[in-house]
Amino acid sequence: MRTPIVAGNWKMNKNLSETKSLLSELTSVSLPSNVEVVVAPSFVVLESAVNTTSNSQVAVAAQNVNAAANGAFTGETSLNMLQSIGVNQVILGHSERRDIYGETDEIINEKVLQSIEAGFRVIFCFGEQLSERKDGSHFEVVSKQLSSGLKGVTAEQMSQVVLAYEPVWAIGTGETASPEQAQEMHAHIRSFLSDAYSAEVASGVRILYGGSVKPGNAKDLFANPDIDGGLIGGASLVASDFLAIVAAAE
Ligand code: PEP
Repeated sequence: MRTPIVAGNWKMNKNLSETKSLLSELTSVSLPSNVEVVVAPSFVVLESAVNTTSNSQVAVAAQNVNAAANGAFTGETSLNMLQSIGVNQVILGHSERRDIYGETDEIINEKVLQSIEAGFRVIFCFGEQLSERKDGSHFEVVSKQLSSGLKGVTAEQMSQVVLAYEPVWAIGTGETASPEQAQEMHAHIRSFLSDAYSAEVASGVRILYGGSVKPGNAKDLFANPDIDGGLIGGASLVASDFLAIVAAAE
């Protein structure tokens, strides 16, 4: 039985006081004990977020990291820096990192490998563009992103990986993959894992769905056998919406 995860990607939203206030709303209620809850605020408020959530069920992740140990990388943050403030989870491969900041499969793979090596949990994102969904290449595109992004990751290390299927056409657009479309892709991802690793790895890895998940559609999406929770953007910025999505994963 896989424990569901609901993770909120706050992107470039919420300053320090807003972060404290949203986190105090999330930590002042009792969360379902069988759902892992993760939030990914911006770098500048990560330490505060770690402190605010320390006695709660809410875990804190970074939205990105640099694969290098240290050095002349202006504006970047290392794994060691994250660890030094108590962060040990990181979102990698988000479509905004790929599309806006030009992160290739190779760059992402290096980040994945270094993060795993450093003991982090990696929430690895991938998903097809609208044109790829329309021309029917979406399964192939996702398989390619998985094989490139996870290159060199061993079966044992897959216990540190959470996958997040996020069709790009559904991110921040209000357009959601239907529960059937999402389940179909998640089953494809599980069968990819079974071929690339083993049936055991495939049945153990959590696969989240992301793309305009809202309180109104979360339950139908999460009810599917291969969907183990969600990566939530916009709706994670409003406590009541995020908590309703967490409750839907129970
Ligand atoms: C995301 O950016 O990871 C995401 C899923 O965003 P939204 O929920 O706003 O579509």
